[in-house]
Amino acid sequence: MAIKYEPVIGLEVHAQLQTKSKMFCSCAVVDSVSETPNNAVCPVCSGMPGTLPVVNQLAVEYGIRVALALECQVNPVSIFARKNYFYPDIPKGYQISQYEQPLAENGKLNIKIAEGQKTIRVRRVHLEEDTGKLTHLNGSSLIDLNRAGVPLLEIVSEPDMSSVEEARAYAEALRDILRYLEVNSGDMEKGVIRFEANISVRPEGTDVLNTRVEIKNLNSFRALERATAFEIQRQEKVLEAGGQVDQETLGWDEDNEKTYSQRSKEDAHDYRYFPDPDLPPLVVDKAWLERVTATLPELPRAKNQRFMEEYELTAYDAGVLTAEKAVAEYFEAALKKLPENISPKSLANWMTGDLFSLMNQADTTVADLKLSPEALAKLIGLVAKGEINQSTGKTVLVEMFSSGKSAAEIVEEGGLKQVSDEGFIADLVKQILGENPDAVESFKAGKETIINWLFGQVMKKAAGKANPNVVRAELDRQLKEA
Ligand code: ADP
Ligand code: MG
Ligand code: ZN
Repeated sequence: MAIKYEPVIGLEVHAQLQTKSKMFCSCAVVDSVSETPNNAVCPVCSGMPGTLPVVNQLAVEYGIRVALALECQVNPVSIFARKNYFYPDIPKGYQISQYEQPLAENGKLNIKIAEGQKTIRVRRVHLEEDTGKLTHLNGSSLIDLNRAGVPLLEIVSEPDMSSVEEARAYAEALRDILRYLEVNSGDMEKGVIRFEANISVRPEGTDVLNTRVEIKNLNSFRALERATAFEIQRQEKVLEAGGQVDQETLGWDEDNEKTYSQRSKEDAHDYRYFPDPDLPPLVVDKAWLERVTATLPELPRAKNQRFMEEYELTAYDAGVLTAEKAVAEYFEAALKKLPENISPKSLANWMTGDLFSLMNQADTTVADLKLSPEALAKLIGLVAKGEINQSTGKTVLVEMFSSGKSAAEIVEEGGLKQVSDEGFIADLVKQILGENPDAVESFKAGKETIINWLFGQVMKKAAGKANPNVVRAELDRQLKEA
């Protein structure tokens, strides 16, 4: 019988910290795509001899935020070390990182999986600096040092993930937390979050840790997923054929969708780590920890849970409304202005349905909305009070979305007020029935669904403004009498 295998995956995640200045100098952190190369560079980050690095306090604080959110123990003293290697994008000949004593250790992150939830242990969180960027062009190599020295946080998991889906769920949960904490933009296209996947496979149900490979520089969730899936299959085939998986570092060839070998175990680097003599030990005392703890926002999972309990929302609604902090804040701001008798669920429907689809079409985010939460609440209030009907409400929302005008203004200008006057509606119904004797006959002959068509005719005649409940009741009454 063939052995079944299961994957074992551990992730190393590099996240840029969105501070104004770099990790060890006062150069600005600039946009990696739009900024002119080498425009944000000084003697420190370009690795001139005789310069001295100085730690960016805010970067440390951002690191502490993440460590606390991941329930890590923050070390009272951590050490910056030199990781020595030669490469053109690293002008000093070493990268400053943390090795033996990282900023924080032993945390965890709960992820959502098909069977419920799973806890992935976080081994360590440490601070380091980014490298420069090489561009190879017509046989030459160009170096841009704008990125050299940009603060990075590396978050290393234990090998606790056992499927591609779990790896993706972990990566996404981490991205959401980084964005909630406002330490990283989450803008994957700009390379602000990069993954390295460590992968091995083992016979299902065992707990051996077999030889692993490491896939470097995965810049999107898709690349993470594809590369991981590819590698799991490759290793299974090797084992099934009686072979052995070699320990190596792999790259991911995006175009051909396969991994390729970068270096084997034999030529693994010896980085000769040692404490950087230019940097004193980093001390994080209790008072600092307490100050940072006080600034932590409610995190995505807690918010999600609270939205379900407090507002009685479905898992789906709570999920989409809390995926982004700005959206959750918009929802709660609108909720505060909503008349008492309207349920949070109805606000959720307006947002996840009509508003989100308008936002998708226009490719805008909540931050760019012309429509304030108060304005949305007022619109929903008008519908609830019957001043306009539901379908007019949706049309008004479209107009509010594009012009930023208030619902009241749009209703006033367009003469969109709902008409509930029974005499007026009775006249309309009478007219429609008079114009459509065939429809009335088929209703009498038992085809009751024709009433929907007649309803549509009445609403059309009333330019959509008639109170639908009154129209229905009146149609029922007159048809029974016909
Ligand atoms: P290194 O420091 O040499 O990169 P570590 O042992 O610290 O190696 O592990 C790095 C990453 O590899 C961690 O995310 C860890 O969870 C993962 N890992 C370690 N052993 C395995 C294994 N056998 N299979 C899959 N992943 C592993
Ligand atoms: Mg590694
Ligand atoms: Zn600099």
